[in-house]
Amino acid sequence: MEIEGEDCEVLEQPDFKDHTVIGTRELILVDEKGSKIQATINKHLFDNYKNLVKEGATRIISNFLVKKTGGQHRATSHDYKIVFIYKTNVKECDNVQLPLYGFDFVPFDKMLKKEVNDVFLVDVIGECTAMSDKIDTSTNGTPNYKVMFELEDLKKYTISGTVWGKYAEQMTEYKKKGIQGRPIIILQFVKIKRWRDQVSLCNSLFATKIFINEDISEVNDYKESITDGDDSRSMGITHLSSQNSHSIEDEFMKLADGKQLDEIPDTNKECFCATVATIVGFEKDTNWYYNSCKSCNKKVDYEGGGRYWCIKCDSHVKSAPPRYKVTVSVEDDNGSASFVMFDREVFQAIQISAMDLKDKLLRVYNY
Ligand SMILES: [Zn+2]
Repeated sequence: MEIEGEDCEVLEQPDFKDHTVIGTRELILVDEKGSKIQATINKHLFDNYKNLVKEGATRIISNFLVKKTGGQHRATSHDYKIVFIYKTNVKECDNVQLPLYGFDFVPFDKMLKKEVNDVFLVDVIGECTAMSDKIDTSTNGTPNYKVMFELEDLKKYTISGTVWGKYAEQMTEYKKKGIQGRPIIILQFVKIKRWRDQVSLCNSLFATKIFINEDISEVNDYKESITDGDDSRSMGITHLSSQNSHSIEDEFMKLADGKQLDEIPDTNKECFCATVATIVGFEKDTNWYYNSCKSCNKKVDYEGGGRYWCIKCDSHVKSAPPRYKVTVSVEDDNGSASFVMFDREVFQAIQISAMDLKDKLLRVYNY
C-alpha cells in the first residue's frame, strides 16, 4: 500500500509512563482531496525518519501498518491510523500540489447546538471580538498562563474559548502589537468542551495550531466574505476581564473533559474526565489503608510470621508499608457517586503519609 500525503502537523506525545520523554511522534497527513489521517512513529524509529518527516513536506509513504483509531480528542475523523514500522519507506516528493493545512471548518451553530461529536478535534475560523490579557494561573511555582477569547462567525454566532501555555503566549504576542480592528483567527485541532450547559473551545495539549490574521487563502477569503458596510468591522477587540473568570474549577477542568455526576453512568467506555463535586462522606466499613508491596504498590496478603505475599510479584515481602485507599461519597448539583481515592490523592489532600498517620494513631489513641 502506498500513500501520498503531506504532513501538515507533527506533534510529540509524551511517553505514557514518563512525561518528560517523548513517547511517539504523531503526524497528520492530508491528501490531495483534503482528507486527513493520523500517523504514529514510535520512539525507537525516530532516528530513521528524523530528516524525512517535517511539517509542510510532501512525502510518499509505503509499507506501514493500519490500525483502528480510538480514544478521546482525535485529530481526524478517520476510523484508522497509520503506524510506522521498521520497513516503512518514506520518499521525498516535493513536486505535487497538495492543500497545505487541510482545514475542515465547523460552523459555530452546529457546535453550540451540540450537533458535533466532541470526541474529535475541530477546526474553526472566526472574527475575534474579545480577548483577555494573559492571566497568570501559576501554582506552586509551575508557570501557567491562559488567555480567554470570543470568536464570531459569518452567521454572527459567538463561541468563547480558552487557550493555555504556549498558545496563550501566541495570542498575547498578537495583542501586544496593538493592531487596530478584529483579527481573523483560525484554530486548528481544538477541543470542544461541554461544561454544564456551556459549549466552549480549548486547545488540545499538543495538536492545536493557531493562525492569527495570517496571509493565507482561508483568512483572506474569510475577510472578503465579511459584508462591506458592516459597522462592527471597524470596532476593536473588547477587553475580557479576568476578574470573575478565574476559578479553581476553570483551572482544574482545563485538560480534562468536564462531566457532571449524573453523566458519568452514561459513560460506559473507559475515559478520563474531571468533575467538580463535594465530598459528603467516607465509607467507614472498609479500612482506610492497605498493606502494600514496595516494588509494585499492590495489596499484599499477610502470611504470618511478619511476612507478606505479593501475588503480582509472585514473591514474599518482608515490610508492607500502608497505602491509602479511601472510598468517598461525593455530590454535585445533579447527582451523587462513590469515588475511590488512592495513596497519592489522599496525601495531596491531607499532607500526611499513610505510614505517618498510622503511627500517629497508634501513639495517640493506641488505635
Ligand atoms: Zn509486588
